[in-house]
Amino acid sequence: MKMIIEAHLVDDVGQTERIELATISCELTTDPLGMSLAEGKALLSHVQQYLVKLQCQSIASAHAHCDQCNARLTMKGWHTRQIRTVFGTITVRSPRVRHCRCMEKAPGASFSPLARVVPTSVTPELEYLQAKWAAHLSYATATRLLSETLPIADAISVSGAKRRVRAVATALEQTFAHPEKQETELQQPSWLPPITALAVDSGWLKHCDPPHHQGRHVNLVVGRTCFEGGETRLYGYVHNQVPSAANRLDLFLSACGVSQTERVTIFTDGAAEFEKAVKGSLRPMCRILDWFHIAMKFRAIEQTALKDPGLQAPNGRSMRDELASCKWLVWHGKARKAVARLMRMHDAFGLVPEERFRTLSWNLRQTFWYLRTNDRYLVNYARRRNKKLPISSAIAESAVNEVVGWRMAKKRQMRWSDEGAHLLAQVRVCELNGELRPRAFAFPQRQPRPANDPKWDGYLMLTAAA
Ligand SMILES: [Zn+2]
Repeated sequence: MKMIIEAHLVDDVGQTERIELATISCELTTDPLGMSLAEGKALLSHVQQYLVKLQCQSIASAHAHCDQCNARLTMKGWHTRQIRTVFGTITVRSPRVRHCRCMEKAPGASFSPLARVVPTSVTPELEYLQAKWAAHLSYATATRLLSETLPIADAISVSGAKRRVRAVATALEQTFAHPEKQETELQQPSWLPPITALAVDSGWLKHCDPPHHQGRHVNLVVGRTCFEGGETRLYGYVHNQVPSAANRLDLFLSACGVSQTERVTIFTDGAAEFEKAVKGSLRPMCRILDWFHIAMKFRAIEQTALKDPGLQAPNGRSMRDELASCKWLVWHGKARKAVARLMRMHDAFGLVPEERFRTLSWNLRQTFWYLRTNDRYLVNYARRRNKKLPISSAIAESAVNEVVGWRMAKKRQMRWSDEGAHLLAQVRVCELNGELRPRAFAFPQRQPRPANDPKWDGYLMLTAAA
């Protein structure tokens, strides 16, 4: 026994046509049970072939008459076009039509009706699927995954996936360049609760061109806003790919629905690039040096100092107690006292000509410099914690790992160009925020096909293309 799947096409005047789409064997076997993946893919591909060709035919027929004066338009010729869809590449014949005399165009000037309605050779859904999966997996793996599950082996490629990511990212970048577009194109949530904090940090990726950029890395900046109620949103960019980090920060906050007058608390480490971004911002901001990076600095000292458990600080206390005491001074907003004590330790150990003391002294110096130069961004962390306010940009650190981590492979041997990393980060951030959608075609408003001319002979030839 076999199952024949057919389609009945009924046109506007009621004429029907039968098309056989697939023949599936119904042998008494359970391997495979139901349709196999190959049969399913073939069926979808067949349906798509017919459907797209019919749609292209109606698009062409709808343009048989002039929009203005309803005069019949004359044909100039045909060309073939390939349209890549989620169910395969479809080759259609597309007519070129001369403009009507009433349009006052140059004599013989023509246009393609299909190109007006379907301006790209890739459907938005396919572009979306390729960009979405390339944001999660490597370009090659994403391409393999899609070709295995959909009948699109002829429609996608690794280089195509890179182009799709570039196109989607460029469109997303446009919304940053024109913030007024954000509302419609990114489908922003119309309301988000008040912002509790914004944390920014940076991650480093291997540069793809080491001979020309010896030791260079791609500096990817990632930020995360937290809202009351626990919602979060990410943003990211490669530092040298944006004209102004401050402007980027302001636009991101606008996109999050944060009002121009709302005071934003921003957590960063001591990097100078964040200082510029915060100072250049047009919004009221309060920058706080995050506790996470301070605690990391103390940990580095502890790790070298505690190798020798009997080591004593210049004031006679054990190093373990003295360091803990310094850390708690910073925690309670008394960083100056902590700096003075760290400097005393540094001066004492710096004089000992032993290798292990050199590392200890270097770590001590790093920490007191860090605290001293960022003095004005230190707060009473204990008090903030008691008030249940955020104290750490660990939220940013985890954001960096989320954006960079697996996909951009901080720890694998993946190498990036500044631009490539920047564009992929745009798509990935948008996807992680749950905002990635297929881009819409700009469908022009068309008049319905005139009732007195249901079939315009010239355009019906479109179905004949195989
Ligand atoms: Zn006309």
